[in-house]
Amino acid sequence: LYVDAELKEAARFAPREDQARYLLAVMRQSVGDELLCFNGRDGEWRCRITAASKRGCELEAVERTREQTPASDLELVIALVKRTRLETIIEKAAELGCGRVRLAVTRRTNADHTRVDRLSAIAVEASEQTGRLDVPEIAPPEKLERLIADWPEGRTLIFCDEAGEAAPLLEAAAGRLGPASILIGPEGGFSPEERAGLRAHPAAVAVSLGPRILRADTAAIAALALWQAAAGD
Ligand code: SAM
Repeated sequence: LYVDAELKEAARFAPREDQARYLLAVMRQSVGDELLCFNGRDGEWRCRITAASKRGCELEAVERTREQTPASDLELVIALVKRTRLETIIEKAAELGCGRVRLAVTRRTNADHTRVDRLSAIAVEASEQTGRLDVPEIAPPEKLERLIADWPEGRTLIFCDEAGEAAPLLEAAAGRLGPASILIGPEGGFSPEERAGLRAHPAAVAVSLGPRILRADTAAIAALALWQAAAGD
């Protein structure tokens, strides 16, 4: 269970109301039962339910079971796609160990329906399920131009480009496994101007995910999985 609380020996804390309801009503846990909690900073702890009522429950941190692992410096930059597809991408990015997801507004997308809180909840749930000790940050939507204009020093921009010449991702990954961001375009692809700007960007490496045109969610999952395989993560 992901908790936003201090985790140290004998620390007592109350999980969020929805978490308490899930523990008591759905998982049918009760006082004395134990579960594993993490807060993204202090590793994983075995916690015991010390009090439970209709209003909620209280947990006590008993023993650290896993040391905190550093967050990954792998980032996914995803152009805003249809809500259901975006939610799938967030869930898979969390499962595949992504450290942060940035949402890019491009010429052919719009940010109207994007609910970052909902996407963050999906990231928490996927992190709990996959056994991570941190939750990927979901940054609010930002214009692609802005995002690449302020590109951080030393970070590689892996530009997944379905059009034009590009080396296979695995080839590009070899020897570039430092901080990297994988960029995936929207359903309608990048505009010619965006593609030209990306191709000219000093930190960008254009890569291919094969001869077929993949949907954005397939491309995101394939690129993350390939990168993690190359990084051995
Ligand atoms: N332009 C096409 C269209 O309008 O349907 C394809 C866009 S594709 C659905 C969305 C994104 O997935 C692309 O912008 C690219 O980032 C990535 N992608 C899809 N297939 C790819 C491939 N074979 N190689 C590299 N990237 C790919």
